Amino acid sequence: MANPLTLQRVYAWFFIGFHGVKGWVTRALSGGRTGMDVFRENYLGEGLPPVPPQARQMYHRFVRCTGCGACDTVCPITATADPLEWRGPMAVVISMSRAAPHYAECLPALRLFDQCGSCRACEQVCPEAIPVKTVARFMRDAVDEIELDRSRAERAAG
Ligand code: SF4
Ligand code: SF4
Repeated sequence: MANPLTLQRVYAWFFIGFHGVKGWVTRALSGGRTGMDVFRENYLGEGLPPVPPQARQMYHRFVRCTGCGACDTVCPITATADPLEWRGPMAVVISMSRAAPHYAECLPALRLFDQCGSCRACEQVCPEAIPVKTVARFMRDAVDEIELDRSRAERAAG
């Protein structure tokens, strides 16, 4: 049976249509700037790049670390790395779960993730099934975006 045409339904259509047109006009008047562009302008300088769509789909898995430390106990890098640069995969994953993730502070550790090869021992023991290497890759991309923005700002400032 077709849904009856009620006042609420007409109002809902009007509301959606009005805001759809408003958004389109606002974007056209702002030279095609998107919400993502505005987010970058407001937060990238503070070290907070936007979360890309692929990462957003997995984000709930990125931030489930309970700090159990199981990943640190199996990581072969921990035995050889400088403890000032590498405190184990847990430190990186926990840094990711902050409201303002510690991207730049993790850069030395993120560089060491290049040595992981096909290990993935940390992921195999993680009781929360956290994709540790994907977290590190996402954080590395975020640091790259922050640094690119800083060097652009420095060039613009002369
Ligand atoms: S994948 Fe990398 S971080 Fe994880 S246990 Fe292996 S070497 Fe350590
Ligand atoms: S094993 Fe998983 S839950 Fe435990 S500290 Fe490592 S990343 Fe966090």
